[in-house]
Amino acid sequence: MPTINARNPRTGECDYTFEALDADSIASICREVRDAQQHWWSAGFDYRQRALSRWADEVRKRQDDIVNALAQDTGRRAISHEEVGVIAHLIEGYCAVAPEVLAAPEGRSSSNAEISFENQYVPYPVVGVISPWNFPLVLSLLDAIPALVAGCGAVIKPSEVTPRFIDPLMQSIEAVPELAAVLRYVKGGGDTGRAMIDQVDAVVFTGSIETGIKVAQAAAGNLIPAFLELGGKDPAVVLNGADLDRAATAILRSAIYNAGQVCYAIERVYVDRSVHDELVAKLVEGAQSLSLNYPDIRKGQVGPFIFAKQADIIESQLEEARAKGATVLTGGVLERHEGGVWLPPTVVTQVNHDMRLMTEETFGPVVPVMAFDSEEQAVALANDTRYGLSGAVFAESITQGAELARRIDAGGISINDTELPRTISLDGEKMAFKKSGMGGSRYGARSMLRYTRKKAIIKNPGSINALDALSEQQVT
Ligand code: NAD
Repeated sequence: MPTINARNPRTGECDYTFEALDADSIASICREVRDAQQHWWSAGFDYRQRALSRWADEVRKRQDDIVNALAQDTGRRAISHEEVGVIAHLIEGYCAVAPEVLAAPEGRSSSNAEISFENQYVPYPVVGVISPWNFPLVLSLLDAIPALVAGCGAVIKPSEVTPRFIDPLMQSIEAVPELAAVLRYVKGGGDTGRAMIDQVDAVVFTGSIETGIKVAQAAAGNLIPAFLELGGKDPAVVLNGADLDRAATAILRSAIYNAGQVCYAIERVYVDRSVHDELVAKLVEGAQSLSLNYPDIRKGQVGPFIFAKQADIIESQLEEARAKGATVLTGGVLERHEGGVWLPPTVVTQVNHDMRLMTEETFGPVVPVMAFDSEEQAVALANDTRYGLSGAVFAESITQGAELARRIDAGGISINDTELPRTISLDGEKMAFKKSGMGGSRYGARSMLRYTRKKAIIKNPGSINALDALSEQQVT
């Protein structure tokens, strides 16, 4: 079993070591979950809800330990606190809608009124979840919780970059034995994730496009469904007439939250040329009012890079952009403190689509701004990308913004704000377009049904056709 050393993003030291699970151990964990899942499902929704609510209580009891571990994993504290709070929110939200969503329909045949049917939503016994490092806790559970509510077992392989939260979280799970039987975490890197795909009945993956393709290929080899939630390069379009203070604040919040290490962060801004300078001035002023969470993790807004290599990617994108004529108005220079790497909020102008800064995922606190001369051009620029996760439009009116939003080829567009898809996660549906993902909507109450197979039990209480129905004479 390979040993993995996890780096602390604030100190740069590899201060946490663990053994990656091998294929045999994963196979035996998946077998145990598969066995236990039969009871988890057959015991019914109320049983599952009770177990999950008790787990939410156990998480609350251990909140400090989990937050401390997450803060060590990620180098930021307030967001770690938010992450822990999301568990109870997901459990309560999905349990509230589950009775209605999981009530399978009944009906009658339209070709023979005597025949009736009932549907059944049969959960996949073991759903495998593979998650990234940017929100280690939330992204490991965002899909696992609805799957558990629907009656599945779940085996989760979080990122090897951020493994510290797993131990305290496992303690909360083990305090609820019936849940611990069907919810397991496995530690490891890509090999562990790959081995898990051979043992599960469906896989949900959140991560990069490149790894997502490998996961989809491995899932296809096992003929299991793969639900992929991948990278983004979200555009914000700012039209003439938009409230520029509002636009600047919302764009900055989105670009800087979690130091830009967010799949749906605004990473490209297109603004009407007539208001370009005014918007840029507001972005620069806002960016300069923010500070690093160094040396005090409890102060400032911008955390360190969780994954050290991300800093190199961003540095090279900025270097290339500068070499091709971009102007960095504020930020733009990495700061290294005690082995950790930070980037102050960065605003860049004079950019274009020949620069990777405008075409590849940045995953850092960078706001590149480009002027446009017509709405057609704005739409063309927003759509000139392999990504299609989400985006934003700022306009004088909601109607005008929504009209433009309908022309943007992405799964969720916020009007006069950013990141609004978060607010409808249990309500409206939203898929990832283009290379940003694959599979049904992760959003909306009915997303739970992704983790089930639809079965029909069809009943014929009336007469049955005799064998002579097969006769050729019937046809002639
Ligand atoms: P990554 O693709 O490098 O790794 C993600 C996970 O896949 C990790 O757990 C890793 O160990 C595992 N893995 C690696 N190789 C594998 C293989 N061959 N088979 C199975 N598993 C394998 O991504 P990352 O760097 O951890 O995360 C950042 C990426 O995640 C960004 O692109 C970001 O946009 C994306 N992301 C997407 C969403 C979304 O909801 N769409 C949310 C957050 C992050």
